Amino acid sequence: MPLSVVDLYRDILPKTNCGDCGFPTCMAFASMVVSEKHPIKNCPYLTEEVVNACEKELAEQYAAGKWLKRDMKEDALKWAKEKSASMDIEDLPDRIGGRLIEKDGKPALELPYFNEHIVIDADRITKKDGSELTRYEQVFIHIHMAQGGSVLPSGKWRSLVEIPNTVSKVKSMVDHVEKPLIQAFEGKTEALRGAALKIGGIDKHSDFPTSDVAILFTPLPRVPVMLMFWDGDDVDGFSAEAKLSFDETITQHLDIESIMFLSERLRELLCEYED
Ligand code: SF4
Repeated sequence: MPLSVVDLYRDILPKTNCGDCGFPTCMAFASMVVSEKHPIKNCPYLTEEVVNACEKELAEQYAAGKWLKRDMKEDALKWAKEKSASMDIEDLPDRIGGRLIEKDGKPALELPYFNEHIVIDADRITKKDGSELTRYEQVFIHIHMAQGGSVLPSGKWRSLVEIPNTVSKVKSMVDHVEKPLIQAFEGKTEALRGAALKIGGIDKHSDFPTSDVAILFTPLPRVPVMLMFWDGDDVDGFSAEAKLSFDETITQHLDIESIMFLSERLRELLCEYED
C-alpha cells in the first residue's frame, strides 16, 4: 500500500521530533521521504524490518511518480523539446543565425553561444566539444529554435519591467540574478569586467559612462544582453546596483521563462569566472 506523508508520520515514525535525522520534526522528515526520496533509514529509531518494508512500498510509489515533487527542469525541457520538434534544421540559420554543418551525414546547426559554439542536430544540443549543456540552457535554446523569428536586434534596450507580461518575473530577476551579482562583485568591478570579457562580453563603458561597468553579451546571435553595474559608495551612501537590459525584440526570440533561464545562466557564468 502506498505510504503518504500522513501514513508515515502516523503509523511508522516515533513522533518524538528529536531532530536526529537532520529535520526538526518527524512530519518534516516524512514529507522529505515521500516527496523527495530522502532515505527513510536516516531515522535511526526504526527497526531494520520496518525500514525494509517501507523501502519496498516507497520504491513502488517513486517508480509510479506518486506524490513526488515534480522535476521542474525535466518537465520544462520536455515541453521545450515538443515546441521545437517540428522545426527544420535547415531553416534555422535564417531565423536564429549560425551556420549549417554536417554531423554524422546529417545537417546540423553550429551556433555561437557566449564565447563558444553549440551544435544542434535533430536529436540533441551539445557544446561543440560534445559536452552537455544544463537542462535550463537546453530549454531556452529549444524555445529560441521554436520561437526565434528572423528579426534582428534593434539596438533599443529594455529592462525586464519594461517588457510586457513580466511582472511575475521581476522579483525573480532581482533575487536570482541582480542580488547575487551584487554579492559577488560589490567592490570588485575589475573582477566583474574580467569575468565578463572571459565569457565573450564586450566593454561598453564608453556608451554608458554613468555606470561603473557596462558589458554587452551576445549569448545567442540574435539575443544581445547588456549588463550595467554601479558599485556601492559608503561615502555618498549609494548601494551597489546591477541591471540587465534586453533588446526590445527579445520576446520574438524567447518567452519570459526562457529570458529568466538565460539571465540566470549569465549570472552563473560570471560567478564561475570570477578570479
Ligand atoms: S530522527 Fe526519527 S524520530 Fe527523530 S525527528 Fe527524525 S524522524 Fe522523528
